[in-house]
Amino acid sequence: MNILILGGGGREHALAWAVLQNPKCDRLIVAPGNAGIARIAETATLDIEDGAAVLEFAGENAIDFVIIGPEAPLAAGVADVLRAGGVLVFGPDKAAAMVEASKAFTKQLCDAVNAPTARYARFTDAAAARDYVRREGAPIVVKADGLAAGKGVVVADDRATAEAAIDDIFGGQFGDASAEVVIEEMLRGEEASFFVLVSGEDVLPIGTAQDHKRAYDGDAGPNTGGMGAYSPAPIMTDAVCQRAMDEIVRPCVAELTRRGTPYSGVLYVGLMIEDGAPSLVEFNARFGDPECQCLMLRLGAQALDLMQACAEGRLSEMRVNWANDHAMTVVLAAKGYPGSYEKGTVIQGLDALAATSSQAVFHAGTKTQGDDIVAAGGRVLAVTARGEDLQEARDRCYAMAEQIDWADGFYRRDIGWRALG
Ligand code: ATP
Repeated sequence: MNILILGGGGREHALAWAVLQNPKCDRLIVAPGNAGIARIAETATLDIEDGAAVLEFAGENAIDFVIIGPEAPLAAGVADVLRAGGVLVFGPDKAAAMVEASKAFTKQLCDAVNAPTARYARFTDAAAARDYVRREGAPIVVKADGLAAGKGVVVADDRATAEAAIDDIFGGQFGDASAEVVIEEMLRGEEASFFVLVSGEDVLPIGTAQDHKRAYDGDAGPNTGGMGAYSPAPIMTDAVCQRAMDEIVRPCVAELTRRGTPYSGVLYVGLMIEDGAPSLVEFNARFGDPECQCLMLRLGAQALDLMQACAEGRLSEMRVNWANDHAMTVVLAAKGYPGSYEKGTVIQGLDALAATSSQAVFHAGTKTQGDDIVAAGGRVLAVTARGEDLQEARDRCYAMAEQIDWADGFYRRDIGWRALG
């Protein structure tokens, strides 16, 4: 099978690593990829948000299966174009990817099926939104409707912060994502992520995780794309998973099917859990980064079989073969991230860290310069390991991180603190 993966982050390196464990894969191309991906697969330059260009590339390279990593191509309708062109694809059509591309869409979807989620109101006008905040009081959560790379949400402890967020969003801070604002009640509890393969109304849970969004130890500092994660999430007990499936996932995907826009791909279910009761915080239409790195290391070769069965509508035939293991990923970021940081700094020590079935260094923002691997983004590497328990996974991760010689990078030392106690 010839496979094309779209994307070039740590998530896509992990997807590529897992796909290559499976002997079914004859040829793997990743577009655009990164320096780490280029060591294990072919990479290609391609506008991955241009469906026609991706379809043409797939035809020229006899691609049998396209796996879409990030949200932007999904929101741009690349999966639609590939499906219409007869190419097997992992990832939802544009209409179903609205679960991530519009927060108002997902709130309305929850309303339609009575799925538990924070109480909310939608606004296209700043004055009305400010009035609502004055009436509701703080704490309160203000969100730009559209895709804003995780930066469009403000959890406001006071009214002034909420009103400033409303003005920023309607001021056009997030371009097209700024046209509408969703204001939500603040949920309390513990957050976790739940990953479910969905093919119409067939659903198969494939794992849980928790991530660390803040830049520094103790969950302090600014929000980032994610500084580390671990899987499974202890708070996602069987009972909580069951409730999330029954109260949120099944009703929502059934409603999408009923509307004629069935979902196909992985559904990332972001939950807040209080006293064993899950509420939906968000859906994403793709794997999380860095949670994907943990999931791929745990799933290994079967990840490809599962994604293929999902794309072919054969999910009901599938089971996940769980090793009773745990995984952790620790992100190495450029000093200064998520603010401004230097690019082009040299990273050494990677050659000694060969990937095995229980550990790997996945690359995110890296590129090759001469004989060197250099940093080319904010989040640069994701060291990932699994173990019989989380402590073993953690010890392996940090042993790898310590071997990496990169004076211009930093990482958190406390990934997994909540689960490790
Ligand atoms: P990301 O891309 O980082 O996942 P996003 O832009 O899609 O973010 P959300 O996931 O909706 O936005 O919100 C980001 C974060 O804000 C959540 O992970 C959660 O920590 C917090 N948050 C969002 N909504 C609420 C809420 N109603 N109550 C409490 N916290 C919330």
